[in-house]
Amino acid sequence: MELSKDHIERLRELLARPAQRIVILSHTNPDGDAVGSSLAWAEVLRGMGHAVTCIVPNKYPYFLDWMPGIEEVVVFKTDTEGRAARAVSEADILFCLDFNAVSRLEILSDTIEANTTAVRVLIDHHLSPDAGFDLVFSHPDSSSTCFLVYCLIEALFGTEAITRRMAELLYVGMMTDTGNFAFSFLTPELFRAVAVLVEKGIRIPDIHNSVYNAYTEGRARLFGYAINRKMELIQDGTVAYMSLLESEMRRFQFQQGDSEGFVNYALTIKKVKMSAMFLAHRKFIRVSLRSRGDVDVNLFARKYFNGGGHKNAAGGKSFVSMRETIDHYVRSVAEFAAEGHLG
Ligand code: 5GP
Ligand code: MN
Repeated sequence: MELSKDHIERLRELLARPAQRIVILSHTNPDGDAVGSSLAWAEVLRGMGHAVTCIVPNKYPYFLDWMPGIEEVVVFKTDTEGRAARAVSEADILFCLDFNAVSRLEILSDTIEANTTAVRVLIDHHLSPDAGFDLVFSHPDSSSTCFLVYCLIEALFGTEAITRRMAELLYVGMMTDTGNFAFSFLTPELFRAVAVLVEKGIRIPDIHNSVYNAYTEGRARLFGYAINRKMELIQDGTVAYMSLLESEMRRFQFQQGDSEGFVNYALTIKKVKMSAMFLAHRKFIRVSLRSRGDVDVNLFARKYFNGGGHKNAAGGKSFVSMRETIDHYVRSVAEFAAEGHLG
């Protein structure tokens, strides 16, 4: 990972000011990379004597509950005491981790737009970051934000500064964002970083079990239902989609995070190059997109669903009914294919 020396020096100067009040923000529907990178970075900053508050817009999935320090993360949506708003208004520095635009904070966006003049630092691996950050570490060629944070710690202090606790947190994001080391950007540097984390004493099988084998019975049954009853193939079997209505989710006692991985599953079918999941929420439908190889779902998400993300994993939203959303998807896929984007 080539980090800009100038940027590192600017970060070092920023952090050399004593006892800064720091807020670390991450994206809506926080995942293992969002939480892992935020908590690890918080540990580093606290070690330097700064006061740190980690904030996420809504709750992280229950299978991350075990992560060291997660109980201190302020969940804006259920924060009745106003801790998040207060921390933001008092902050000297805001670190934005694992997202590329303030709009990705959704219900928390207004608080950030209105309540702070803090210095804004972006540490992220999504494509096309927004303007408006004072210092930008944007590395779309990093497989996770956790790996990027690892590289920042290494550049600032050397890997000696990484504790076992930080190592566990960083490993979670490296593992989850790469689909357990199966997706892109699996560089030698990443595996060298993992080797260092192993030297710190992390237990990979335990972390794997805690994240991937910790679902409820309802989730397992919902998965079977979704694949068997709700998965559809179009475009001569090369494009898949799946949808879940709120009533269907209720039937399986759905909890936040239960649909994690469903959208990837269609890509286990050899012919499938692109897959979508439509998940109904009260006010809109959340769209998840995945692809393999050269099929660019970041482009697709931007063009048709007002979203974005990475080339092979992206998302967006739809504000019409499930039926209309699916019709729009089917039409958009046909147009995308006609323009040559499906190979
Ligand atoms: P997921 O399907 O796991 O929710 O998201 C996959 C990727 O797409 C993530 O990197 C996420 O940040 C991005 N993404 C998901 N939803 C949206 C959205 O509404 N807007 C943008 N710009 N990116 C999104
Ligand atoms: Mn990430």
